[in-house]
Amino acid sequence: MPGPEQTVPEPTGEAGGQQTGGQQTGGQETDGRQAHERRPGTTRDGVPVRPEGPVGGEGPVRAGATVRAGESVKAGETVQAGGSADVIVVGAGPAGSTAAAHLARTGLDVLLLEKSVLPREKVCGDGLTPRVVKQLTDLGIDVSEEAGWLHNRGLRLVSGRRSLEFDWPELSAFPGFGLVRRRADFDELLARKAASAGARVVERANVTGPLLDERTGRITGVTARLGEERRPVAYRAPIVVAADGNSTRLSVAMKRYRRTDRAMGVAYRTYFTTPRHDDRYLEAWLDLRSPTDPARRLLPGYAWVFGMGDGTANVGLGILDTAKAEVDWRELLRRWCDGLPPEYGYTPDGVTEPIRGAALPMGLNRQPHYADGLLLVGDAGGTVSPGTGEGIAYAMESGRYAAETIVQALARRTDRGRELALRAYPQALRSAYAGYFALGRLAAELLGRPKLLGTAGAAGLGHPALLKVAFRLMVNLTEPNSKDALDRLLHLLGRVAPGK
Ligand SMILES: Cc1cc2nc3c(=O)[nH]c(=O)nc-3n(C[C@H](O)[C@H](O)[C@H](O)COP(=O)(O)OP(=O)(O)OC[C@H]3O[C@@H](n4cnc5c(N)ncnc54)[C@H](O)[C@@H]3O)c2cc1C
Repeated sequence: MPGPEQTVPEPTGEAGGQQTGGQQTGGQETDGRQAHERRPGTTRDGVPVRPEGPVGGEGPVRAGATVRAGESVKAGETVQAGGSADVIVVGAGPAGSTAAAHLARTGLDVLLLEKSVLPREKVCGDGLTPRVVKQLTDLGIDVSEEAGWLHNRGLRLVSGRRSLEFDWPELSAFPGFGLVRRRADFDELLARKAASAGARVVERANVTGPLLDERTGRITGVTARLGEERRPVAYRAPIVVAADGNSTRLSVAMKRYRRTDRAMGVAYRTYFTTPRHDDRYLEAWLDLRSPTDPARRLLPGYAWVFGMGDGTANVGLGILDTAKAEVDWRELLRRWCDGLPPEYGYTPDGVTEPIRGAALPMGLNRQPHYADGLLLVGDAGGTVSPGTGEGIAYAMESGRYAAETIVQALARRTDRGRELALRAYPQALRSAYAGYFALGRLAAELLGRPKLLGTAGAAGLGHPALLKVAFRLMVNLTEPNSKDALDRLLHLLGRVAPGK
């Protein structure tokens, strides 16, 4: 059962890690609109969508009518109608832009509402695995080095005195290379892709709450504050996708609370100048210990160094909150960097950006992923992997699953058929991820159990066989019918792992 909303170890003052940047051109709708002449409120075949709420109304909506009390509109304030669409997607991160691009490609009328102006910073490690490469390729994005991507060959795991390189496997579903790219760039590229596919992207549209059908409780649109003047606007659609990241105000307003029995993590990062900036391996250091712990126990997480190819490396750490440790994460990262080998060229003067962090919502921790017209994708639905903190691939994949589900639903001719189709989305997420996520969490928790690994952990993890298991567990890249004994064992463990 869902538990009540709880406070997470939220990095101070940076919930969501977002910062706006770039030109303040707020409230602007970017291109893509002309490509679709179909009337909103109909499917691409012209079949009317039959929402249960007042969709498509053009007059102003008064506070206190369908707007949830206290959410966004002051008493008596007039909310302008922002128009309607087949689907509203809230948040133009990887999850939202991927969902919007796939939806718009099928001809649906999609509104993508983003509170900031792109490009904007997003606190991240900037590491992209082959799963992300697949998603980008599916969207028709050029991932060549000429197009500005730094390619990597695999993952280097460092533990104790041992360092082993594991190449990404070349698989039927996934390519044998990963990428690195700054998030400001990456997210803007994806949002522009959604626009060129036909989505109407509105920047500086800060969504403040759901519009509800008072009779059924079903979402019928959203309210937003638009532009620099923060003008209140209402947008209407029969289906809304919450892609608004880990704080997901929209999900919380719709009472989608976090499951407290699921993992949460926290991650911090900074950048420093380094001669190793074009390293062809992503690097993860598994022996992370609190400097203030006299027993020097392993923490359930790792530190990374990802060369950015521009003279700098992104360096950071991510930890499961099961650590229950009183740790100053910024200080831990600083001290950890101080211990880097001299060839990394790390000096405190070489740091190019302040340490910033954010929470990592993991293990499908916000549920239900579909109810009452609202789908949760990406961090809003807790799709970060508990084993690694990898979130971009799963954000994009969940965005795509959601889009495919919605396309099917909107093609149905009855409300019942539409609801049945929409309910397939949580099931798709569960069957794709629940086993792997549960296994990842178990593995990461094992690291945090002093009695199981404790001070012997470094020596144990440094064994090549264990590092190989760690690599396979971390990357989630196998053939479905692999004959490899380790792959088969991991598939089996994933199926029987508790906590689905
Ligand atoms: C320090 C750190 C390092 C990380 N490193 C990696 C890594 O190397 N690789 C990896 O795969 N993952 C990494 N992650 C995880 C990854 O960043 C997230 O999982 C990913 O960004 C989730 O994408 P999303 O689209 O769901 O959410 P977000 O990227 O958070 O996007 C949400 C969007 O919604 C917008 N928004 C929010 N509220 C509103 C609103 N009210 N109205 C309108 N718009 C709104 C935001 O402005 C934002 O653009 C890291 C996370 C952290 C904190």
